[in-house]
Amino acid sequence: MNQNNNGTWVSWNENLTHNYKTLYKISSEKELQDIVRNSEKIRVFGNKQSSSDIASGAATLIDIKSYNQVLSYSDSEKTITVQSGIILGDLIEAIEAKGWCIPCLPDINTITIGGALATGTHGTSGKLLSEYIKNCSYILADGSIKEISAKDQLMDAFKVSLGVLGVLSTVTFQCESIYTLHIKEGPENDKEWLPKIKERLKKHDFLRILWLPHTNKGYVITGDKINPELKIKEELGSPFLRHRRKASKILYKYTHIFPWFTAIANKLLYKGFFSGTKEHKGSLYQATVTKSRGSTLELAEWTIGLEEFPKVFEELKTVINKWSNKSFIHIPMDIRFVYKDNSWLSYAYKKDTVTMGCVSRNAASADSYEAFKSIEKIFLKHGGKPHWAKRFKAKDSELSNVYEKWDDFKLLRKKLDPTNKFLNPYLTELFNEKTNN
Ligand SMILES: Cc1cc2nc3c(=O)[nH]c(=O)nc-3n(C[C@H](O)[C@H](O)[C@H](O)COP(=O)(O)OP(=O)(O)OC[C@H]3O[C@@H](n4cnc5c(N)ncnc54)[C@H](O)[C@@H]3O)c2cc1C
Repeated sequence: MNQNNNGTWVSWNENLTHNYKTLYKISSEKELQDIVRNSEKIRVFGNKQSSSDIASGAATLIDIKSYNQVLSYSDSEKTITVQSGIILGDLIEAIEAKGWCIPCLPDINTITIGGALATGTHGTSGKLLSEYIKNCSYILADGSIKEISAKDQLMDAFKVSLGVLGVLSTVTFQCESIYTLHIKEGPENDKEWLPKIKERLKKHDFLRILWLPHTNKGYVITGDKINPELKIKEELGSPFLRHRRKASKILYKYTHIFPWFTAIANKLLYKGFFSGTKEHKGSLYQATVTKSRGSTLELAEWTIGLEEFPKVFEELKTVINKWSNKSFIHIPMDIRFVYKDNSWLSYAYKKDTVTMGCVSRNAASADSYEAFKSIEKIFLKHGGKPHWAKRFKAKDSELSNVYEKWDDFKLLRKKLDPTNKFLNPYLTELFNEKTNN
């Protein structure tokens, strides 16, 4: 075990900083248990990539990234058991080497499994990552180990639990046989793609729409499972397309001072990077997950029932297209689809759901990014839910309106952590708890 005293914790994009008394790097479950048992206030963090202030802000911190081993496989059941600090990219490589996959992946491979599961991380055209958990073990506030299997009712509370019910120690994922997707991408007018969502969800195995605000266009990505040997006409576009993030960074550089310039930048980015078509094939991981990030950014994401989405989308579009407000939004707004589940704090609790991302490519000026405020106002009004890892202002009173199981979750939290060991100031406010931080 490695220990550092009296330092400063800084998040990935440097938007959040906290002083700590002790920071531990651990590599065994026993170390994890001992530290949790003996700490008054503790947070565990992964790759620090969340925009919300949930990963630090306690006297004791644990960096979980060195607790990252693959523990076992079951070939007959297609399961893999790992320690919670493993990086998603390493997990997927281990799974793909077996000829398996997890059939719904987020757009980022550098996050830890502990961080991803705690915050309800999802991909598209499938379920939250946490729905693929078969068994897991948590270290509770008193240092004891709690084993939970998919059959236990408690699993629905633990699956997405913001690291406030305990620390995830190990997890067994139920995998499926790997498959190959034939991906087709191209732009469409909003009038075309919006009414086709349900039809496309039935027709395709993968659907994602990168909406391009202030252009009236969406960039539609569909994927169909094919025989891996099938020859397709591959079209990856010009090598220039690789520079999209760099070009965005330059074009948006001063949009915190001149927000209206975003509308012009978006039209240029559309012409340069989204007006062509592409066709390719690969595993879900190869074909859809971004493997490198050149720039820092700040994110919000809101979710809404599939049925309500078209109405909310039109309202959002009307609001942001008014030049009288400053809600100009950087490209793209990522529209994805998550199928219903039973997890208490899931965005898709008992409802098929659409998720809509909102990015500020100037992380440092994200506090004044008007778009985050507008999107929150509109989605909350229609019963939308925020992504736990991303930026939002809603707290207990708003969240209790949109989460049917909010109060049950709070009761369980209080029972498992009566001294609020796992609450930092942000989470204390979120759950409307009183505590000495
Ligand atoms: C560029 C980018 C792309 C993204 N793409 C997607 C996407 O496609 N889909 C999506 O849903 N999200 C996405 N996210 C959000 C991302 O999945 C979350 O922010 C995730 O939590 C980051 O993992 P991390 O390892 O950095 O966790 P951290 O930010 O370090 O921690 C997140 C939370 O998990 C808790 N935690 C960490 N480990 C444990 C553990 N072992 N036990 C209990 N709690 C723990 C922490 O205390 C904290 O509350 C994206 C974020 C970025 C920056």
